[in-house]
Amino acid sequence: MARRPLPFRPATATQRRARGVTILGATGTIGVNTLNVLAMHPADFTVVALTGNTQFERMFEQCVQFAPQTAVMLDEQAAAQLRAKIDAAGLPIEVLSGAAGLAQVASLPQTDIVMAAIVGAAGLLPTLSAIRAGKRVLLANKEPLVMSGPLCVQEALKAGAELLPIDSEHNAIFQCMPPSYRTGEPHAGVRRVLLTCSGGPFRETPAAALAQVTPEQACAHPNWVMGRKISVDSATLMNKGLELIEACALFDVTPEQVEIVVHPQSVIHSMVEYVDGSVLAQMGNPDMRTPIAHALAWPERMESGVNSLDLFQVARLDFERPDSARFPCLALAYAAARSGGTAPAILNAANEVAVAAFLARRIRFTDIAAVIAAVLDDMPAASELSMPIVLAHDARARELAAAEVARLEVGA
Ligand code: NAD
Ligand code: MG
Repeated sequence: MARRPLPFRPATATQRRARGVTILGATGTIGVNTLNVLAMHPADFTVVALTGNTQFERMFEQCVQFAPQTAVMLDEQAAAQLRAKIDAAGLPIEVLSGAAGLAQVASLPQTDIVMAAIVGAAGLLPTLSAIRAGKRVLLANKEPLVMSGPLCVQEALKAGAELLPIDSEHNAIFQCMPPSYRTGEPHAGVRRVLLTCSGGPFRETPAAALAQVTPEQACAHPNWVMGRKISVDSATLMNKGLELIEACALFDVTPEQVEIVVHPQSVIHSMVEYVDGSVLAQMGNPDMRTPIAHALAWPERMESGVNSLDLFQVARLDFERPDSARFPCLALAYAAARSGGTAPAILNAANEVAVAAFLARRIRFTDIAAVIAAVLDDMPAASELSMPIVLAHDARARELAAAEVARLEVGA
């Protein structure tokens, strides 16, 4: 029987072993799911810090319920509005603002676990701050890994940080790895990784209709409820391309060892094939509370609030090859993964700019891949990977993508 959630309260002297959690991106989809899981286990975790961008009303509600010691809003004005509400309510919560505030709470000594759930490249520096402070880092925010996965993994090994993937596919792969496996280490006996993909909302949409699809249609994912940026990525299949790059960084596999398998039911979250022919799959309802609870409790298990998988209701599992002609973002991501160096960072930056322009109705859905291809063509990638080079290439790719968006917009 499911346990009734208890009201969350700060740790007391009798709860010394509760682990401190900071959530970067607490007001987003993953952040809210994380708080829902934590609310089921008030004796085991304390919320140390929460961060958001502009949504100060939601942040205030979270502060009232979870009593963190610090709340950070990236936006200065939102921080001032949150501070006023917190002061009026008489809550003993420090309010910070800006990127420095994000990096600060990611490395607080009271924090044992950092959930990295900011969307996009904006999460890179706070996530690195958590890694360098040697925390257990739960990686939902995939863009930093795409931009600089090998650097993040190296830094984690150096600082003794634990990297646990939250992206459902990568969490599934991690669960199918040998029990002693740690992210970033070489593994014995793995032949390849089967990365599953729902196919997104346009799996059956004819190529000719894709130019007309709207942001609302692109954000209506058949199986998962997600933020708008990742929803569009799921519709273009760039999400799977980013996940391919993410898998190579996290699990020490080459792009050739990762096979993308379209599986519309989203019940198998990914698989690992071993050299003896065994294929291990992780299955469950498509609900992000499962990977979140897995990574919070690892290596133990705890309740997540997710219902049992009803296989009789699922009835069948289908598998298809992805259609790279209708979804050209996949081939762009494979090419960037093979090139390595800063190519994935360039791909990611161009994609972020293109997706924002599509959501703002400035370019068509099919222009997203065109913008990324143009930027990759225009800009040579560096083979050497260092944080200053990654950040410089990210910035340059954004400029080129913005120019390409402006050109397409005028032509539209
Ligand atoms: P979301 O848009 O719902 O939430 C994003 C969070 O980041 C919010 O708290 C927002 O305030 C904050 N944020 C936005 N811009 C920021 C900035 N510039 N600086 C600081 N904070 C900022 O997104 P989401 O769906 O929760 O996804 C978060 C991350 O997790 C993404 O990288 C996504 O790819 C990844 N992810 C999400 C899911 C999912 O099911 N939602 C699954 C796998 C991976
Ligand atoms: Mg995923």
